[in-house]
Amino acid sequence: MSTPGARGGTDLRLRRGARPATTAPQPKDGMVTPSGPLPSSPYDVAIVGAGVIGTALARTLARHPHLRIALVEAQDDIGQGSSKANTAILHTGFDAAPGSLEARLVREGARQLAAYAAETGIPVEPVGALLIAWDEEQLAALPRLAAKAERNEYTDSRLMGATELHDREPHLGPGALGALHVPGESIICPWTTTLAYATQAVRHGVDLHLNCTVEQVGRQDGTRLLSTNRGPLHTRWLVNAAGLHADTLDRALGHDDFTVTPRRGQLLVFDKFARDLVRHILLPVPTALGKGVLVAPTVYGNVLLGPTAEDLDDKRATGSTADGLEGLRAKGRRILPGLLDEEITAVYAGLRAATEHEDYRITAHPGQSYVTVGGIRSTGLTASLAIAAHVTELLADGGLDLGPVQELEPVRMPNLGEAFPRPYQRPELIAADPEYGTLVCHCERVSRGEIRDALAATIPPAGLDGLRRRTRARAGRCQGFYCGATVRALFEEART
Ligand SMILES: Cc1cc2nc3c(=O)[nH]c(=O)nc-3n(C[C@H](O)[C@H](O)[C@H](O)COP(=O)(O)OP(=O)(O)OC[C@H]3O[C@@H](n4cnc5c(N)ncnc54)[C@H](O)[C@@H]3O)c2cc1C
Repeated sequence: MSTPGARGGTDLRLRRGARPATTAPQPKDGMVTPSGPLPSSPYDVAIVGAGVIGTALARTLARHPHLRIALVEAQDDIGQGSSKANTAILHTGFDAAPGSLEARLVREGARQLAAYAAETGIPVEPVGALLIAWDEEQLAALPRLAAKAERNEYTDSRLMGATELHDREPHLGPGALGALHVPGESIICPWTTTLAYATQAVRHGVDLHLNCTVEQVGRQDGTRLLSTNRGPLHTRWLVNAAGLHADTLDRALGHDDFTVTPRRGQLLVFDKFARDLVRHILLPVPTALGKGVLVAPTVYGNVLLGPTAEDLDDKRATGSTADGLEGLRAKGRRILPGLLDEEITAVYAGLRAATEHEDYRITAHPGQSYVTVGGIRSTGLTASLAIAAHVTELLADGGLDLGPVQELEPVRMPNLGEAFPRPYQRPELIAADPEYGTLVCHCERVSRGEIRDALAATIPPAGLDGLRRRTRARAGRCQGFYCGATVRALFEEART
């Protein structure tokens, strides 16, 4: 176990006004370091990768105040890997492989994240999903999918005929024969989720080291030595939550359990005028390659069409392709013809960490004081809190003394969702602080006050894209054409 203090030698990022005033004893904030040498004394646990999985684990381990924890991230901000570019669905797990680890962790994680979102202010809309059959073969598959949902302990799904389906989704294309209604499927903000986990972890003492790539792993003086581009980092236990690169790190520790094949998903984002065209998440009948192309509303009031599923070699290939986008348009035209008349405001692509296995690759190696959290492919956002709890159990079973448990102080995140009041809609907030009434980004209605708060938060953004994920500034139809210069000026001002 570590003792508090002895955390010197780094250039700390300024954090202002992060915590509300209270008379209760305050946990000590961890450091957020973007550069400089790393602390020389060993951590109890180092987590490699600050995606939704690494941050969820950091938050869960932060409940044990005697542990000294480092979250180590190669990029300049949290959540910049697969976690920033997904379809943002809080799954029920109705279609998971029954009996698999993924099925259990998605089921448990969905409940946990829904409760956490309500407590924290992460926007979630329980719009429900319709799994639509477009031919007789797919129609015949629906009862099997309903039975599979039951085996996954999801009992609320219901078969629906073509008439009811078209009543529920009046803009649906012709030819749909029926659907399986899965009312528990929701849409969620993936950016706020990762930020909430990381914020709560840092406020309870976790050190977040950014721009810090783990290049090699070895041993020195009875602890594990991580060689990083920012110098050495010592730790007693190591957790590999490196997403697409989890296989590389696993091999560096002598294992040959899985190979990550990046499976690209390209998506189209339609403007807010399209939002009224769709009420549910519209899913196809899944195939061996995955869940298929969906049409779904977003919590920001847009409509998504995608993702593709392309197995690639390049773990950096997050570009989009003409073929990929044309394929999506063709599928979208069949599902919701009116959607294709609407304007597209953004195109993006994310990479799933697919492996040769059908399940997550979460393995403890107690002899090495090491846990791998690999192969978290297309459900990791949903399962994140349950994965974190599972890994914490593996660490304890493997010999890590967790020490006493503390309740975490709740965090309250800024609301980015359209279904809940935004600051510009709250007269009492504007009366108390007029900065919330001064709009900077008019497309997304983001106020100066929200930008100021994000720039002064526990984990401030490292760039304008990070600011967009924290506020929605520059995410609207003009893509920053009108507000870009002001947003940049506010960002630059906060850095000086
Ligand atoms: C197109 C698409 C759609 C999806 N849709 C959904 C959905 O609707 N619902 C859902 O629940 N899930 C969905 N997912 C899955 C979900 O996004 C992922 O399971 C989840 O984001 C994985 O998180 P992670 O933390 O494991 O990986 P990442 O977010 O990739 O994080 C890993 C981090 O490790 C860092 N790293 C790697 N190597 C090193 C190193 N050597 N040193 C330091 N840092 C390192 C990386 O920089 C990265 O930040 C989707 C995924 C995609 C791509």
